[in-house]
Amino acid sequence: MLTFENEGRLNLLPQAAHNARRALVAAAAATAAPAGADNPLRRVSVEDKRVINSRADVNQLVPFKYRWAWDKYLAACANHWMPQEINMSRDIGLWKDPAGLSEDERRLVKRNLGFFVTADSLAANNIVLGTYRHITAPECRQYLLRQAFEEAIHTHAYQYIVESLDLDAGEVFNAYHEVPSIRDKDEFLIPFIDTLTDPAFRTGTPQSDQALLRSLIVFSCLMEGLFFYVGFVQVLALGRQNKMTGSAEQYMYILRDESMHCNFGIDLVNQIKLENPHLWSGQFRDELQGLFARAVELEYRYAEDTMPRGVLGLNAPMFKEYLRFIANRRCRQIGLEALYPGAGNPFPWMSEMIDLKKERNFFETRVIEYQTGGALSWD
Ligand code: FE
Repeated sequence: MLTFENEGRLNLLPQAAHNARRALVAAAAATAAPAGADNPLRRVSVEDKRVINSRADVNQLVPFKYRWAWDKYLAACANHWMPQEINMSRDIGLWKDPAGLSEDERRLVKRNLGFFVTADSLAANNIVLGTYRHITAPECRQYLLRQAFEEAIHTHAYQYIVESLDLDAGEVFNAYHEVPSIRDKDEFLIPFIDTLTDPAFRTGTPQSDQALLRSLIVFSCLMEGLFFYVGFVQVLALGRQNKMTGSAEQYMYILRDESMHCNFGIDLVNQIKLENPHLWSGQFRDELQGLFARAVELEYRYAEDTMPRGVLGLNAPMFKEYLRFIANRRCRQIGLEALYPGAGNPFPWMSEMIDLKKERNFFETRVIEYQTGGALSWD
């Protein structure tokens, strides 16, 4: 059949293909914009694009509007890595040596894996079954697709460590049910995941748009931006003492990915705020601050549980300060007032790990370079 699309451009489409394409476009648009575009086959203009509740065709990546999201997608692809590239033989030797690690160090590693082996599955499911459907900017969806794969790589990395050390997989993978300090963190998150993954949930009202924003903030600022940090500090502290260096190197790559997930989430939140300023009410901000305070409390309890005594030059009270410092930073990043004025950073070396370019082979554990060579700089 002959169709005349925008600007008199002639397209030849068989009837069946035309109908299928029209259905696909309509279905994609209907995820968040039941009103639909006036003409679903219309070319997209930049002005039509919105991060949520867009009326534009979500299949048209270009013209770009959200260049920051596309840039993060490119940066994430450039940071590609795979767990099996990292040599675990020194970790295995140390773990099997009865004198290799103290009991407190072993507890710390097992608790750490107990949280992380399921955390990235929660994150992946939250993206794929929840967030993705409600975000209507194709540039942001492109990043979310990359992020979902990175969450799978992280789960793979933790599984690779569990398998390498020959840990009891049943115990480690069940820790989020069986260890209260881990279970409490996940139980805090679940309602916010459930909101987005509920098949009946739709954005488009101030109330539902706030629910989406709340879940996005909980995930980026509190899950990826706070709940991961006690664990990251602990395993990187082991690596700094030349212990479990293969695991520590994997955590460094994961930390690099996660800090980008967190920053993307924050940019997404700020863009939604910009496009929907009515959502950012005083009452909403107060409620968010309450959630931040609760998350700091839960992560501090997890710190106490993983470190009943001082270990590796770390102890739980140091983390009280650190978690307050991070919470303040996350608050400021989304335009909330800092909750704990004056909190300082007891681990300045962590900022170096996140922010500075690092040489390859940080712990001299890598056995092969990734194919895209040169991509593993620490931007
Ligand atoms: Fe993540």
